Amino acid sequence: MIKTALLSTCFVLGMTSLAAAQQSGKPEDTEVWEPVPKVVTGTLLATPPPSDAVVLFDGKDLSQWVTTEDRNAPAKWKVAGGVMTVDKSTGNIETKRTFSDYQLHIEWRVPANISGTGQARGNSGLFLASIGKGDAGYELQILDSYNNKTYVNGMAGSIYKQFIPLANPTRKPGEWQSYDVFWTAPTFKADGAMATPARVTVLFNGVVVQNNTELLGPTQYIGKASYKQSHGASPIKLQSHGDKSEPLSFRNIWIRDLAAKQ
Ligand code: MG
Repeated sequence: MIKTALLSTCFVLGMTSLAAAQQSGKPEDTEVWEPVPKVVTGTLLATPPPSDAVVLFDGKDLSQWVTTEDRNAPAKWKVAGGVMTVDKSTGNIETKRTFSDYQLHIEWRVPANISGTGQARGNSGLFLASIGKGDAGYELQILDSYNNKTYVNGMAGSIYKQFIPLANPTRKPGEWQSYDVFWTAPTFKADGAMATPARVTVLFNGVVVQNNTELLGPTQYIGKASYKQSHGASPIKLQSHGDKSEPLSFRNIWIRDLAAKQ
């Protein structure tokens, strides 16, 4: 009965049976719980921007950022003491500029007084390409993964619901952490089909956690990821996650546009 009702709703909405099938699973179907990556001691890389970098956040203002839900609206997260802090009431933010291939540096901090467990403990995300409102895009997970059990393809350093990190160098809540990301954007044929997949290498506190990983497509919370939507250069997005735990902070964000250098 339930299935029949769902299918008829989908026909009313003009959805294909394929789309209906992809949405009919449960989030738990794509959680992976092992192997658990080994804990290693990393080091915060607090690398200053190289001379040819575009500085996306220098501790002073959000002039390089807009609100994801309305790209004409300035980002409204809080800036104080040289850091920006998520304001969960104002949603995701993303860069004004768009990028394809790049090198990105970002530092993030889960507050020392963090509460909650699993995915509801220090959850944010770095969307390596934002391809629409909400959480549309390719998410490199940000989470408190210091003694915090969750599915391993959803821990810090994972490509969310796709690839587990090669190690767990997460530092304690209250300490700064660094991601250094080397991103190769996907390319698409004239008919919209994927020509070459996105690839990413990630250093987490100086430790390789993704090594030239080929992404399966944009992040999907339910169902298997695949490339359904062609896109060009895209903004970079930071997630305001809907959980109730205390908000994260960010600092020292810069990017080097590699496509422009070829
Ligand atoms: Mg997240």
